[in-house]
Amino acid sequence: MTAAGVVTSIGASSERLRGRLGLIGNRIRRLEPSAEAYASASRFGFPPVAFACIVLVALVPLFNNVEWELRMQQGLYFGLIALSLNLLVGTTGLICFGQAMFMSFGAYVVAIPFRDHGINPLYLLPLTPVAGALGALVIGLVVLRGKALYFSLLTLGMAQFIWALEHGWLSLTGGTNGIPGVVVPGSLNAFSNPHNVYWFVFGITAICAAIMFVITRSPFGDALRGIRDNERRAEFTGMWVKRYQLTAFVISGAFAGIGGGLFVLSETSLTSDTLDWNKSTIILIAVLVGGTRYFFGPFAGGIFWVYFFDKVHQGSGVAGQMWDTVLGIIILVVALFFTGGIVGAVQLVLAYFVDLGHWIVRRPIRRAGPVLSVEAPEAVHLPDLATIVTSVKERVIGGPMLEVTGLTKRFGGLVAVNDTSLTVMRGTIHAIIGPNGAGKSTLFNLITGMYKPDGGTVLLDGEDVTGKPAWRLIKRGMGRSFQTTTLFWTLTARDNVTIAGSAVQDATFRPAGRHPQQVRQRSRELLARMGLESFSGITAQQLSHGDQRSLEIATALAVNANILMLDEPTAGLSPSETKTAVELIKSLQREHDLTVLFVEHDMEVVFGIADRITVLHRGSVLAEGTPDEIRRNARVREAYLGEEFPEEQSE
Ligand code: ADP
Ligand code: MG
Repeated sequence: MTAAGVVTSIGASSERLRGRLGLIGNRIRRLEPSAEAYASASRFGFPPVAFACIVLVALVPLFNNVEWELRMQQGLYFGLIALSLNLLVGTTGLICFGQAMFMSFGAYVVAIPFRDHGINPLYLLPLTPVAGALGALVIGLVVLRGKALYFSLLTLGMAQFIWALEHGWLSLTGGTNGIPGVVVPGSLNAFSNPHNVYWFVFGITAICAAIMFVITRSPFGDALRGIRDNERRAEFTGMWVKRYQLTAFVISGAFAGIGGGLFVLSETSLTSDTLDWNKSTIILIAVLVGGTRYFFGPFAGGIFWVYFFDKVHQGSGVAGQMWDTVLGIIILVVALFFTGGIVGAVQLVLAYFVDLGHWIVRRPIRRAGPVLSVEAPEAVHLPDLATIVTSVKERVIGGPMLEVTGLTKRFGGLVAVNDTSLTVMRGTIHAIIGPNGAGKSTLFNLITGMYKPDGGTVLLDGEDVTGKPAWRLIKRGMGRSFQTTTLFWTLTARDNVTIAGSAVQDATFRPAGRHPQQVRQRSRELLARMGLESFSGITAQQLSHGDQRSLEIATALAVNANILMLDEPTAGLSPSETKTAVELIKSLQREHDLTVLFVEHDMEVVFGIADRITVLHRGSVLAEGTPDEIRRNARVREAYLGEEFPEEQSE
């Protein structure tokens, strides 16, 4: 066989192999439970399973197995610390390596005064959340300066630094010798009975878990999930993202501090090497293995870890010697195939039971929402044009809403926006056009506070807002959509709009309860207005592209915007969708007395709805005027040479 023949035959067999693997993959996928079964599993299956587990854990001392009781007690405070970490990892999307450091603050605040002044550790316990929170506040101010990977790196560096401090400061912490004998004084107290210590730890953990549960389901929790999904969108709903992240950090630190206090009470001693950064990594692994998407996931991970660590790692068997290998494999499996972790596995099993049950009774599962697959993927669910057109009222045109003077932005040697001035009158629709790379999006970013200008001023409604961050502008009545759709992708359409409505009035700082009634009402109205009513329970990422564009406009409106800034609102829409979207923008403008400034490349759209047009070319204003003036302008025609440019129409 020739070399070429060998290559071809290898190619063919690898093709065949790939085909086989594909078939197997399909088969496995077919064996997966249905989406409805997953939903029922979490809705109806989780509460009883969680309840049973909680009761079982509460009753552990009754089994009179000392080893089990001790291990479960460790699992409890470890689980609590993992839960506190997941508030950052799962809810806010911050990968933090600092949990052992917060834990150490809580631990030392109990152990040191006990050693030095003989203060009852129980009385010191209320100080643990304070110590954890204060530490987190100071550290958070530093580490939150870094974004994404750099944030994680900073937490790692901080954890190492704090540990080195605790490790080296022998007179305070005792270093590796630590602080021994931290027990509640008096031989007749209730804490001389280990069962009571267990129940005490259980009780505190349960209360903390309940509080965290409420927080993750509150408007504040929604805001954190929004930030996790899309920081930019969060900022453009009026959230000062840093402030939310710092608050989450402080809350997380407080609960980790409590966990540290319970840790000392349980172990009755404390040394610096039990709290090094390695411990932080272990807590993070526990969170991931347990399932970061589920509230109880980190708890399951914590208990799993303690059990395996004691049973397998410290055991003398083969498994003990191979612990690191076993752990490595577990992490690989979770990361590659099973991101749901332990609780995800429970959900999977429950979902199989749901499917099996329905198969036995031979009744199809009742569907919770509309069926997505039936819809054409490019469908936009805008309401009837007729109803929109009839609701149009007279326009009120006023003084300047937005005044931009001499705005300049440089990127290295490139002047993307050069001494650009622009005035947008209240109640008008103003378009910015220009060839690709003209600086339109950059101008938008300067006006909306995403970039700081190198020169020039921006007046919004008469107020100087030059260089102000976006969230401040949003609170002053600006709403914005982006050239590439920017949404909270894993949240429902309803949540996307509701969070925007709440955030702009800081109602997303509520750590319990629901979003304000009037915000929820307005979200329903806005979604209905966009024709997205029946899709309100579906995540943004599952919507069609057209619906996503509409949803983005809805979130921009939800912040009670007076001025709507739309960057290429029809990008990616089909001609018929474009037509509907244009009508929608036009009618929304009148219904809400909006000022609209938009960037658009579709000339038909521009000349169809704009009252005024500004033409940008190489970062500068080439021309400004009414559509007719722009159409006649020779310089504009020249700039657009070779591109489609509409001829003057007889009207
Ligand atoms: P338009 O939206 O009109 O197509 P942009 O405002 O996106 O144009 O870009 C204007 C110019 O500035 C382009 O040459 C682009 O490459 C450059 N530019 C835009 N944003 C950045 C950035 N963040 N860093 C460097 N150059 C940029
Ligand atoms: Mg652009």
